[in-house]
Formats: sequence, structure tokens, C-alpha cells
Amino acid sequence: MKILSPRQRTIVNLLAQKGDVRVEEIEQNLNISKATAYREIQWLSSQGYAAKTPGGLSRMTAAPGNCLQCGRESNPRAAFLAERKDGSQFSACCPHCGLMALTHRTDILSAMTTDFFYGTLLNAAHAWYVLNSRVSPCCQPSVLSFASLSDAQGLVQGFGGELANFTDALEKIKTLTQL
Ligand SMILES: [Zn+2]
Ligand SMILES: [Zn+2]
Repeated sequence: MKILSPRQRTIVNLLAQKGDVRVEEIEQNLNISKATAYREIQWLSSQGYAAKTPGGLSRMTAAPGNCLQCGRESNPRAAFLAERKDGSQFSACCPHCGLMALTHRTDILSAMTTDFFYGTLLNAAHAWYVLNSRVSPCCQPSVLSFASLSDAQGLVQGFGGELANFTDALEKIKTLTQL
């Protein structure tokens, strides 16, 4: 999976907070040239992190579809999307099913998950996950994903659950769903 540079991460976080960002805001926030800002916009949109707009970027939300794992309709606040090596895509209703699908597949090229607070898509490998909290919008045990570690920690403080990065979340989902 593609790794976000600290600069790209900052832009994705800005998008998560604001919904869209203009190229001028990217320049100012990161103190970079317009040309560099455009390069980052190009890259982020080509990788599916955001949609390009005439003046910058706007966050994407997942298109509705049925969950590959359980057949439920995807929850726009929680959807999980993955691309296979052959270019085909599948969606899962929430990170619970998305992570489950990833644990027994070897043909996945990349995966995107939805930030539970902002409804924006981000690279699943860089998200923070909260497993088994009392907030359960979709499948049980609940798995929610966040772009920001402090948002994930805030959820845990308020509603319990276990904080995990992508690798740990994949391991934990196997154990949790065996209960
Ligand atoms: Zn599902
Ligand atoms: Zn679900």
C-alpha cells in the first residue's frame, strides 16, 4: 500500500476537518509553493484520497454498495473499500467486515476505510481503529476507524473499546470474531 508522507497526511487531515481545501490553504498550511501543492493534489486524487476540484481538493465519501462479507448495505459513515490486484473493487459495510475480508485474502492491492467522525475516506493501513466500543453503528463487535489518533483516543475515553493500528486491528479482529 502507498505510504503517505507527513505533508500528504497533513492535507488529508485538513480535508477530514474541513470537507474541502483550496490550493492556497495547502500552500499556506504547509508553506510550500503552488507547484508543489498542485503536485500533492494530483497525487492524492490519483490515489483515491480525495476528489480534485477546480480550486483544490474535496473529500470523498464511499459510494453505497453491498457488503462482500455480510451482504448489508454499506454504511456511509463506516464503509470500507478494497481494490484487488486485478483492478476490481469490493466494499464492506464497516471496518469490522472490511478487516475480516482482508484477513483471509491475499489479492488485495489497497484498502480505504471511513473516518467515523468526518465520513472521509483514508488509507486503511494508516487508520487508527477502535474495536469493541459501545458505539456500534453496524456489525458486532463494533470496529470504527479514524484518521487521527487523538480522535480514536477520544472515542475510547468516551465509549470504551480497544485502540489499535492497522496491523494490530487485523490480528484482534480474528480473535474477537472467534468469541
Ligand atoms: Zn458487512
Ligand atoms: Zn458492518
